[in-house]
Amino acid sequence: MSVRTRFAPSPTGYMHLGNLRTALYTYLYAKKSGGKFILRIEDTDQEREVPGAVQIIYNSLKTAGLSHDEGPDIGGPVGPYIQSERKDTYLPFAKQLVESGHAYYCFCTKERLEEARAEAEKKGENFKYDKHCLHLSKEEIQAKLDAGEPYVIRQNIPTEGKAGFDDVIYGHVEVDCDTLDDNVLIKADGLPTYNFANVIDDHLMGITHVMRGNEYLASAPKYNLLYNALGWEPPTYVHLTPVMVEGTMRNKKTGVYVFETDENGNPVLDENGNPIKAIVKRKMSKSQGDPSFEDLLADGYLVDAIINYLVLLGWSPRGEREFYSLKELEEAFDLEGLSKSPSFFDIVKLNWFNAEYIKKLSPEAYLEHARPWLNKVLSEDKFDYKRLCELLQGRTEVFNQLPEMIDFLAGMPEFESDLYTHKKMKTNPEVALDALTKIRPVLENLTEWTEEKLHDTVMEAITEFGMKNGQMLWPLRIAISGKMSTPGGAFEIAYLLGKEETMKRLDASIARLQA
Ligand code: GLU
Repeated sequence: MSVRTRFAPSPTGYMHLGNLRTALYTYLYAKKSGGKFILRIEDTDQEREVPGAVQIIYNSLKTAGLSHDEGPDIGGPVGPYIQSERKDTYLPFAKQLVESGHAYYCFCTKERLEEARAEAEKKGENFKYDKHCLHLSKEEIQAKLDAGEPYVIRQNIPTEGKAGFDDVIYGHVEVDCDTLDDNVLIKADGLPTYNFANVIDDHLMGITHVMRGNEYLASAPKYNLLYNALGWEPPTYVHLTPVMVEGTMRNKKTGVYVFETDENGNPVLDENGNPIKAIVKRKMSKSQGDPSFEDLLADGYLVDAIINYLVLLGWSPRGEREFYSLKELEEAFDLEGLSKSPSFFDIVKLNWFNAEYIKKLSPEAYLEHARPWLNKVLSEDKFDYKRLCELLQGRTEVFNQLPEMIDFLAGMPEFESDLYTHKKMKTNPEVALDALTKIRPVLENLTEWTEEKLHDTVMEAITEFGMKNGQMLWPLRIAISGKMSTPGGAFEIAYLLGKEETMKRLDASIARLQA
């Protein structure tokens, strides 16, 4: 049977990195097996619907290069691929389950259920529906239906025995049926719950491998009961371990952070008397401030770097190799390499990958990526972007760092004269004043303002003055940049600034040293 995998996101309005990783693995497994990768939109929770969210899913997958073979936007043989457009698909199967005794109508009111839930909570128990409506007679049910009473359809979980399934990552998973709740399959609005729709759709769409987050692990035994009840073959399950992060955490409702506490439960304070936010291990989450795929792209991460980083976050290839293009992954990926323990998102490692991918860009591609960031502080008609990019490419980790790296070109920052002090270069403000005063007329007389000319002229002058290189070059760079660390040295910066601006800065710096 040829492999069919699916990515089944709910339209939340952004692409969570954990979801993108699921999509990636799902896509790769289909490609590796010569199968099909299907996109299904799971939008049955209409209250959570975010306008424009489906488009974001299409855009994210397209940007990531994960092109699907079937989906809502391109169609396919088992559509529609949006659950809300499949509304009428589910009820007949639910009715079939009612007929066979694997499901039942439930007319319980919200009030009754809330009371029962509160009761269970009081006793410290997990709420479980008490099968109250299971015992209604056929006639009673019909009378209620005829009277238009609102209803749901629930799964009738056996009261004894075990339910289980096999998972590629977790092995055989089995639970006692009496720990499982009689889930709602069809809601009062007629739409299926995720618990029902995923089973029906995966079967009708011929899905052979279900890859998804391990938050569904606990429910999968119930899904298997449904497959059995319907006489269907369950798919191969691959429940992926989560993407975690070490970070601060706050209450979603109140926004209050979790603070570090001492052994008595009191908050630990910093030197200013403020409570210290605790660093906890938790699932990655947009609502806790962790970046989504779109956030990373907007910050200037490269798609290829994100994909390469993500694939290794929970999957290890055989061997030490670290760099993979998507095409190469389509060959290399396998289920055996999937991790059995949670992975931790590490921005430092991602930045490293990004820097490596940035180094590999052609100069033209680098300029394309850098331009919007350079434009935030400079303008292309005043600065030689091509040259600037040559200087920046090897030191760029993430494009959003560029404005801060180059803002000194737009305007000289205020700086303290102790920046002139550098032990190794044997400079201090006094040496600097001497060097700058000497080099000023040399630069003033320079007519051809190129890096080469600047280099040759200044180096010649250094020899003439009997100075050490660093005693001239360090002060000169500080005097015209105001920064300890710059892309390029004195000549490159002088060239980029142009003669007029360089002389202006030099004069200002000399004046400050004289004051
Ligand atoms: N719609 C589910 C989600 O976004 C997908 C679960 C699945 O892949 O079955 O979490």
